Amino acid sequence: MALARLLEGKPVAEKIKLEIKSQAQKLKQQPVLASVLVGDNPGAASYVKSQAKTALELGIIYKLFQLDKDTTEQALIDFILKLNLDKTVNGIIVQMPLPQHIDCRKISESLAPFKDVEGLHPENTGKLFLSRSGFASCTASAVMELLNSTGVDLYGKEAVVVGHSEIAGKPLAFLLLDKFATVTVCHIGTSKAGKLEEHVRRAEVLIVAVGKAGLIKGDWVKEGAIVIDVGINRIGAKIIGDVEFEKAQKHAAYITPVPGGVGPLTVTMLMRNLVEAAKLQQ
Ligand code: NAD
Repeated sequence: MALARLLEGKPVAEKIKLEIKSQAQKLKQQPVLASVLVGDNPGAASYVKSQAKTALELGIIYKLFQLDKDTTEQALIDFILKLNLDKTVNGIIVQMPLPQHIDCRKISESLAPFKDVEGLHPENTGKLFLSRSGFASCTASAVMELLNSTGVDLYGKEAVVVGHSEIAGKPLAFLLLDKFATVTVCHIGTSKAGKLEEHVRRAEVLIVAVGKAGLIKGDWVKEGAIVIDVGINRIGAKIIGDVEFEKAQKHAAYITPVPGGVGPLTVTMLMRNLVEAAKLQQ
């Protein structure tokens, strides 16, 4: 039995970056992404580094604003409102996680929808529901690009999404519906009811975004399935996904490695949204 083909994010990202770079060069002004970092979360600091590097590579100005960890929710909202009005800024990203005293939902809602390059504002999530163009979640768009890179037509395929978060599972369900896949969304309730395995076994396209190492057993994977593992789990010094990779690879036709699958594409999707925002604004 042949092993699944690896769906690596980097080569897909490189192709899309060429297009973004050429679009950015056509703009009257260099596009600007404002990045707001509150406090000193090490995870958020590492995202900032990778975003700054990609922005530089693509000819995008990356302006980092570092706010104290004790910044109040209202002070952060006021800061964002100023960025909303700043004509030199095309897009805004607020780094997650935010300190616990700040409600992320209120922060997303304070963004101007046309600068919300992460697709978190209700207007953008609403547009996704209505299949209208807006900014879609970068993680969900990254998954769709990986699926697209296989050349497999999703029309009528059994797609199973495990995880129903606002940044991954829910937007993915809508993006897959737009491709006319038959979509099942599983979550903690599915597992608690003991039904996760039966849904996963049916999946011709399986997308897992939970954050639990080994949740999906390799031998549940259907022969010839496409498996996209969004999960990131740090086990000691190692990073692994939610799917038992080695076993799943024996059944799937395509599978993403973790790390190296969805991750490298997510920042590229952010920059694509930013250049799109700049185009619309200019
Ligand atoms: P989240 O915590 O917001 O949502 C987790 C989801 O998993 C929920 O829908 C929950 O119901 C479900 N769930 C929890 N336990 C379950 C179980 N036992 N069985 C079935 N479903 C279960 O998580 P999130 O923000 O969507 O992130 C999910 C994972 O994806 C994390 O590991 C995160 O680090 C990773 N992630 C990766 C990228 C990337 O670029 N590669 C981007 C975003 C998130």
